[in-house]
Amino acid sequence: MYLYNFEFLQMTFYNISNPSETASLKNAVLKSISSESGLFMPTNIPVLPKAFFDRLPSLSLPEIGFEVAKAMLGDDISDADLRQIVDQALSFDIPLKKLDEQTHVLELFHGPTLAFKDVGARFMAGLFEYFLQNDNKEVTILVATSGDTGSAVANAFYDKKGVKVVILYPSGKVSNLQEKQLTTMGGNITAIELQGNFDDCQKMVKQAFGDAELNQHLILTSANSINFARLFPQSFYYFYALAQLGKTDKPIVVSVPSGNFGNLTAGLIAKRMGLPIHTFIAATNSNHSVPDYLKTGTFTPAETHYTISNAMDVGNPNNFPRMLELYGKSHTSISKDIKGHWCSEAQSHEAMKELQSQYGYQADPHGAIAYSGLKGVGISEAHHGIFLETAHPAKFADAVEAATGKAVEIPKALAGILDLEKKSIRIKPEFEQLKEVLI
Ligand SMILES: *Cc1c(COP(=O)(O)O)cnc(C)c1O
Repeated sequence: MYLYNFEFLQMTFYNISNPSETASLKNAVLKSISSESGLFMPTNIPVLPKAFFDRLPSLSLPEIGFEVAKAMLGDDISDADLRQIVDQALSFDIPLKKLDEQTHVLELFHGPTLAFKDVGARFMAGLFEYFLQNDNKEVTILVATSGDTGSAVANAFYDKKGVKVVILYPSGKVSNLQEKQLTTMGGNITAIELQGNFDDCQKMVKQAFGDAELNQHLILTSANSINFARLFPQSFYYFYALAQLGKTDKPIVVSVPSGNFGNLTAGLIAKRMGLPIHTFIAATNSNHSVPDYLKTGTFTPAETHYTISNAMDVGNPNNFPRMLELYGKSHTSISKDIKGHWCSEAQSHEAMKELQSQYGYQADPHGAIAYSGLKGVGISEAHHGIFLETAHPAKFADAVEAATGKAVEIPKALAGILDLEKKSIRIKPEFEQLKEVLI
C-alpha cells in the first residue's frame, strides 16, 4: 500500500542560491552541493496522510523509515531496493526512555560508532551504492568533521566499491577516542589532520568543490549534512520517537543539540510532512549564532568557540539557510516554531550533573545541553518534552566523569580501538596542501 502508486513520481531539488537550477535525486545526492555552494532543497515536501499517523504507534523503525522515504523520494528507487537500504541503515534500535512525566530522552547512540550520525551516514552509503552500481566510476567523499561525522562516514563507507573517503579533522580538537575512530580504519579511508579549527576544515572542503583543477582529476562529493542523503534519514527517528510516545493530546516539545543544524532541519522536515511536533528547541553550546538569530532576527556568524561538546563547535552552521528556506525567510514564522537556548561550559557541566543526580541518567555533554534546553524554555506537565541524546557518554568520558563523579563504562565495540595505531596526514590550513594530498 503505497501512497503514490497512481503515477511515477520523480523527486526534484532546487538550488537555494539559484532557484531556477534544479537537479534529480541522483545528481543532488552524488554532487552534494550545487554551483555557487548552493544547498539543494526538495521542490516539494509531501504531507503524509492521516491513515499513516493513525498506524504510526504500531510501526517499527524500519517500517517508518521506508514509508517516510518512499513518500519523499518517490519512485526513483524501487520499493525492494529502498526497503533494503532502510533496513541496513536502521539495523539498531533508537529507544525513547521516560525520565519523568514531562521528560523523555531519545537515545540515538546505539549505532556502530555510538553517535546519531550513523543513521544518516549509513542511509547515504546505501544510496551511493545504489546509484553507483552501474557506473564504472570512483567517487571521492571529502568530509570535514568536528568529531563524530568522520567516524560514522568512515564506518558506513568502509570497503564500499567505487568510493574513497578523505576525512579532514581539526588537530587537537577532537577527543582521543574520536581521533582513534577516524584514523585507524585504513583501507579506502584516509584521515587528514588539519592544524586549524573545524570552520577551516569546512571552508577547505567547500573550496575543493569549487576548484576546477581538482574537479578535473576527481569526482568529489561530501558526506556532511549539506548532502540531503545524510540529512533526510534523520527525520525518520522523530516519527519513531512519537510512535513510542503513543497517542497524546499534550503539545510535544523536542530539544535538539545543534551544531550544523542538520539534525534540527530533519526534524523540521518531519513536521512539514505532518508530524505533530509543537515546538523545537535549537539547543547549542556557546556557539550561539542561531539562538541569537531566533531572539533578535539578526544572524551574525561568529568565530568558533571550543567547548566540551565539540561536535557542536560551529560558528557558521551549514544548514541555517535550509531552515530559513523552510520558513520563507520569515523571522516571525520561524521563531514561532523554534525557540533558541544555549549553555555555557559551566551550565553544560551542571546539566550532566543534574541528570545524574535527579534521574540516575548519565548523559554526554551534547545530550545534556539538549536537556538544559527543555528546562530552560520551561516545559511543564502540560507538555511532553523529548531531548535527543546524540552520543554515547563514553565518547566524552573525561567530561562526563568530571561532571557526574561516576565512571563511564566503555562499550565493548570501542574498548579495543584505543590500542590501535593512529595514521593521519598532517597539513596546514592551506588549500594547496590539501590539493597535493588529493591528487
Ligand atoms: C554532529 C553532532 C551534533 C550536532 O548535529 P548537527 O546536525 O550538526 O546540528 C550534536 N551532537 C553530537 C554528538 C554530534 O556528533
